[in-house]
Amino acid sequence: MDIKKISEMDRKSVLHPFTQLHDHAAKKYGEVTIVDGAKGIRIRDANGREYIDALAGLYCVNIGYGRTEVAEAISRQAHKLAYYHTYAGHTTDELAKLSDRLIKIAPSGMSKVFYGLSGSDANETQVKLVWYYNNLRGQPKKKKIVARERGYHGSTIVSGSMTGMSFYHDNMDLPVSGILRTGAPTYYWGAHPGETELQFSERRAKELEELIVREGPETVGAFIAEPVLGSGGLTPPPEGYWAAVQAVLRKYDVLLIADEVVTGFGRTGEMFGSHKYNINPDLITVAKGLTSAYAPLSACIVGQRVFEVLEAGAQKVGVFSHGYTYSGHPIGVAAANATLDILEREDLAGNAARVGEYFQKRLFEALGQSPIVGQIRGVGLMAAVEFVADPEKKERFDPSLKVAARVSNAARERGLIARALPHGDIIGFTPPLTMTNAEADEIVGIAREAVSQITKELG
Ligand code: PLP
Repeated sequence: MDIKKISEMDRKSVLHPFTQLHDHAAKKYGEVTIVDGAKGIRIRDANGREYIDALAGLYCVNIGYGRTEVAEAISRQAHKLAYYHTYAGHTTDELAKLSDRLIKIAPSGMSKVFYGLSGSDANETQVKLVWYYNNLRGQPKKKKIVARERGYHGSTIVSGSMTGMSFYHDNMDLPVSGILRTGAPTYYWGAHPGETELQFSERRAKELEELIVREGPETVGAFIAEPVLGSGGLTPPPEGYWAAVQAVLRKYDVLLIADEVVTGFGRTGEMFGSHKYNINPDLITVAKGLTSAYAPLSACIVGQRVFEVLEAGAQKVGVFSHGYTYSGHPIGVAAANATLDILEREDLAGNAARVGEYFQKRLFEALGQSPIVGQIRGVGLMAAVEFVADPEKKERFDPSLKVAARVSNAARERGLIARALPHGDIIGFTPPLTMTNAEADEIVGIAREAVSQITKELG
């Protein structure tokens, strides 16, 4: 492969997501990284250099790279029937099987599955479903959506608006109206002095209640949240959080959308984050782990309570006028069924629980005493290390020092991909759920060296 030529073609013709466009064009970081192959938890670039991908792509390659079983399922499907649409009740055998399977493994009370291609489009659909549901049941004002600070729900117009980090909005004319914001479930930063986790959770629930009452419960349609905060900090919920929040939602008849795009399919150590935290959602968003990213596929899993209204309303309004050419695309569906076969056969949720516990223990041993580490946290195979200038006083670093980005770069130079999360000085680890204890040791060893290098640099 002519790396220089590919690199030039890329610079000339690709508009990359989440990339500094000028620096990329100006080659500030040298040649582009051409990813050329992958196996297990490792990727390989065009120079033949290997990296441990402790992020599983973008928290999505749950079954690990290079699983030929999925490639073969995709190939079989492409040879048999590469495409047909699912409009007007058309289906394929694999689509019906996948949907039946999803309803069975999802939290109880789910009824139907609608398919898209990305987490962002699925969350757009969720909002339309909330609006449609409330129109059909004669509550046309009940449309506002409450989302949390630091939540991540995608980057399209409404999904991006629900995302609660301002740099996703700046210069993009977001958020659109009708999106309300409530506090993040981040006890470490948000707790008042002396407040217990439980008290903090109750305060967050009270703030949510006050917001709903202030806006008028008849105008608030849904609350959207990730069971475990993902891109906003890989932060498990504080004790009592979900019980307190769900009580408020029930009281004001506000639907709960569980955004399980990251937490779905084993990442927390249970099949869904909703199982882990006793969440009873009305609508569930899944993507990423559904196919382990072997093909694009997302889904909105619709609860019985919502579907009953949609079905009854159809007699009045006719066709459900929403969908995509690629809804239920056979290639994505084949990838999903093959992925779920592996996930279940190899008990990858169980592995995430076991290896996740070991991984966190090792992170604590390696970094718990570091003078620049404020908190190490996680659940299953989601873990984060948050850096602070003074762990005693919980003082942040000056953002211009770019501490997490530097740790991430130092790790990369040593062959480990660990992401600097966009909000605060945090590096995140969300490796494939196939990870072994020995691989966890390897990651921790490199992370320790990277943190120690940056600690020295910071003096
Ligand atoms: N929801 C959550 C919780 C996510 O983490 C993401 C992506 O990281 C999305 C939605 C958006 O998914 P996509 O990038 O496939 O649009």
